[in-house]
Amino acid sequence: MNIVIFGPPGAGKGTQSNLIEEKFKLHQLSTGELLRQEITNQTQLGNKISTIINSGNLVSDKIVDDLIEKYVSNKIYKNRLIFDGYPRNLTQAKNLNVLLMKYNQKINIVLKLSVSLETIKKRISERKSLEKRADDSEDIAIKRYETYENNIRPVIEFYKQSNLLRVVNGEGSITEINDEISGLIDSMKG
Ligand code: AMP
Repeated sequence: MNIVIFGPPGAGKGTQSNLIEEKFKLHQLSTGELLRQEITNQTQLGNKISTIINSGNLVSDKIVDDLIEKYVSNKIYKNRLIFDGYPRNLTQAKNLNVLLMKYNQKINIVLKLSVSLETIKKRISERKSLEKRADDSEDIAIKRYETYENNIRPVIEFYKQSNLLRVVNGEGSITEINDEISGLIDSMKG
């Protein structure tokens, strides 16, 4: 079972990925996290990409595709991956299909957490009283939401056409959302 998960910042994608990772014994692959690790470890790649990442731009498709291949080619992770933060554009989506085919795998399901901008704003204001995150200003949140939705639209359309897309109502509680996702994954296995 390989899963791709999408959701705008604030949709609870991280939380849900962690839950299904544990429940279904999968391995979560967050390209953002992998790239940040390269920077922290000051690898050759890390030094090359730190300016790009810090400016909020996307790194090249070649860089992320190479990172992803390390995992797709590793038997330990065969048919056990949750792709998070990847693919970010149509080229990456197509590359991922080719890569999975090369290693005799495929995407089984694509989950999109659907959350309104209103709900995201509400969650941010609730969280503000608990912990103040640097990126929690409402204006920035709106900008990130709109940028995300616009950029990811063609990728979502691509998966819709291949009949893999399942839209999950992200408005509920963590448990409700998790139940819906678990049900979808179970139905794929059966
Ligand atoms: P994230 O943690 O997913 O928000 O990613 C943080 C940063 O890493 C992004 O702003 C991009 O610069 C870079 N990044 C993460 N995933 C990708 C990707 N699939 N393609 C290109 N750049 C990416």
